[in-house]
This record gives sequence, structure tokens and C-alpha cells, in this order.
Amino acid sequence: MTKLTMTAMNVGPLGGAKNLLVAFAPGNVETPTTSAIVEHPKHGIVLWDTGVNDAVADPERADDYWGSGLPAAFGAERLKREDIVDAQLKKLGISLGDVRYVVYSHLHLDHAGGMSYFPDAVHVVQRDEVRYAMWPDAWTRPMYCQNDFRDIRKLNFLEIDGDFDLFGDGSLKLVKAPGHSPGQQVLVVDLPNRGRICLAADTGHQRDGFENMVPMPWDWSISAMSMTRMRMKQLERSGVPLFFCHDMDDFSKLPQSGQFWD
Ligand SMILES: [Zn+2]
Repeated sequence: MTKLTMTAMNVGPLGGAKNLLVAFAPGNVETPTTSAIVEHPKHGIVLWDTGVNDAVADPERADDYWGSGLPAAFGAERLKREDIVDAQLKKLGISLGDVRYVVYSHLHLDHAGGMSYFPDAVHVVQRDEVRYAMWPDAWTRPMYCQNDFRDIRKLNFLEIDGDFDLFGDGSLKLVKAPGHSPGQQVLVVDLPNRGRICLAADTGHQRDGFENMVPMPWDWSISAMSMTRMRMKQLERSGVPLFFCHDMDDFSKLPQSGQFWD
């Protein structure tokens, strides 16, 4: 492979009341959990977010793993074992040991669930996020599943603080985007043919919530989220399309099921 490519996966089909994602919104919504594989010509395979742990796809273990009632609230009955990131990578012919870097938007239970599948990778996270995840405030505590972190002290972590050009070549730029969590970050991928796109994580949970600046009930700081959303809107205005992790329309526009963007 001589040039950078990327593809996306839905590593956690979830769903339920829309007001869990956009405060006071009526109705229900089906949501993907977007993860991406970027293959860098020099540095190999980079995984963006790891989705939900396999225990949550098992009705016998889900409540124990996430906490009582959470799997039902987020519609985890939709999850099948083959949706989990390790199974999806294998289906694409990628063995877990081939993943050189795992980059986390943040460490909530639908983003860090696969952490323990990659013992040999470099795990890239904002310093504020990993510190906060170990002792979150009470109201965000259910979103940080301590079972996801069982191997965290054995893993090779690259902590960063602020915006960061991962390989120093402009191909993968991390932009700190606090609000939903203290150390959330988004990823700007510079594709050689298509140009720049932004994997915008949970800076918006649904397009309409983002456009109207409506918070999500578990946002860590609504004030920080508002400032982040202003920056994200300017990024989009500048011609860089945003793809939110849990918006089905956004996910449907990304390459998937063996398709790639370059
Ligand atoms: Zn999320």
C-alpha cells in the first residue's frame, strides 16, 4: 500500500429514546457507533475508537459489565457478537496484532470497550481524559465503565495535551474538543485524493442537536461543549465535512463493508 486509506465500521448499533442523546428531544432513534481504520503508508494501521465490549453483546453478561439497566437504556439488545470491533477487524482480514495505534476520541463505554483487545498497540488519548476516566464525577460515572480499563496499567499509553499531529506529516491531526468529556478529541484525516474530513466523535450526538447547540444529558461541561461546537462549525464552514459517531445519516456517507476512501 502506498497511500493513506480509510474505512469505517459500526461497532455498536444501539438505539432508544432520543432524549438520552439530545436533551428533551421526543421519540426514539437508531444509532451507530462509528469506528474507523486508517492505513498509513509508513506507520501501518491506526484504529479510531474501539466501540462496545463483547460482554455487552451477551445478554447474560451485559448488565454485570456495564451496570444494571444501562444496556436496556441504550438498546444493547441490538448488539451481536459480530458487531464488536475485534470481529469486524478479523472480517476485514486485519489481525488484532496488526493494529499499531489505537486512538480514542474519549473513554466512554461505547468508545473504549475494545481497549483490552490491543495489548501491543500504542494507545493515544488526551491526558485530561485518561485521568478523569479513573475517577469521574458522580453524574458521568456510568459512562466510564471501569471493566473496560482492566488492562489500562499494562498498556503503552501516549498521553497528549491539546492538538497534536500524530505522525508529524499532517495526515492525522488530533484536535482537542472538550465538553462531552474533559479530554474529548476529534480526528482530522487528510486523504490524498478526497482531502480533509473530520471524524467528529461526540461533539454532536445527532445532527439536529449539534446544529441547535442542544446538550446531551451526560455532557461533562455544557459551556466547554458550546465552545467546542463553535470551533467544529468553523471547521465545517472551512470545507472539512464532519461525521458524528452516533448519527446514522453521517455514518451512511462513510465508506464501509470493504469500501475505502483514499
Ligand atoms: Zn459515544
